[in-house]
Amino acid sequence: MSTALQVPKTERLERARARMDEERLDALVVLKAENRAYLTGFTGSAGIAVLARERAQLLVDFRYVDQAGAEAVGWSVLRTSNLMEGLGALLTEAAAARVGLEADAVTVAQWRTLETPGRELVALEGVDRLRWRKDPAELDLIRRAAQIADAAFTEILPQVRPGVREVELAAELEYRMRRAGAERAAFETIVASGPRSALPHGRASERPLRRGDFVTFDFGAVVGGYHSDCTRTLVLGPASAEQRTVYALVRDALEAAEAGIRPGMTGRAADALARAWIAAAGYGEAFGHGLGHGVGLAVHEGPTLSPREEAVLPPGAVVTIEPGVYRSGWGGVRIEDLVVLEDGGPRRLGSLPRELLEL
Ligand code: ZN
Ligand code: ZN
Repeated sequence: MSTALQVPKTERLERARARMDEERLDALVVLKAENRAYLTGFTGSAGIAVLARERAQLLVDFRYVDQAGAEAVGWSVLRTSNLMEGLGALLTEAAAARVGLEADAVTVAQWRTLETPGRELVALEGVDRLRWRKDPAELDLIRRAAQIADAAFTEILPQVRPGVREVELAAELEYRMRRAGAERAAFETIVASGPRSALPHGRASERPLRRGDFVTFDFGAVVGGYHSDCTRTLVLGPASAEQRTVYALVRDALEAAEAGIRPGMTGRAADALARAWIAAAGYGEAFGHGLGHGVGLAVHEGPTLSPREEAVLPPGAVVTIEPGVYRSGWGGVRIEDLVVLEDGGPRRLGSLPRELLEL
């Protein structure tokens, strides 16, 4: 357990209470695991945090009483045999008339359980925004996760040879990340070779690598609950002229975005930095996903960099920049780096080179 998490989250609670004031809430119920961990420090898999003006209470079952007591500094830990019943009783006892719930976390069944005369339930959008700005302790954990993932990738490069199957490389990468201190892989590691590299989320398959293949690796580690996310595409053997051209286009798009992205711009404007570059080269249709996403306690969180994101990127946000070009039947290239947005420009959290690797 990281000691970094065992600090009272006073500043975080102040921001959560400011949101409660805006919504005129008597209580904020936090069901989502990442938000619960962020506000309380408690890292167990089940529990409900209830924040009121004067109180901060964490409901857990008997499995987590000791852990919650140790991790959730400043919170009163209450034991219950049924979390939702415990929550209902707690809200009744507090006479909370207006109760906020995370709209994207509460189930219809949970909502119905809590409905009662005299209590108004409010579905809150965007509670996750509390987590968008990362503090120095969070940045350290993300940076460590990125370093572990980078080192594991570098270590497996000698094994990237014709005949080796994608699943073997994915397994090697995950094994090395865990040996180096990762709690787990950040998500199911992607290894996509040859024509499969045209699949933006190609799960590692039994396909053996062949000479001339593009091979895309998308991988990350988790440290202290925080994720990293990185993609590299290489060529097995000398690259063809066409492979070089497409690779250079994607790298240039990434660097154009990196040169222009600043806190204060919208996610849409950031996305356009790379999209315009790729479209100008005639590959606009081949870049069908957003440019990036926030990374933290979840591997995919806000803010997103996409044509649909109107939200403004705050300083301290950690986001991926991951342009790609995919051509069905031929292959694809994606390069993804993790950055923290600072006023002077983005700062990288990983350190893998971006030059085309020809193995
Ligand atoms: Zn990724
Ligand atoms: Zn990503």
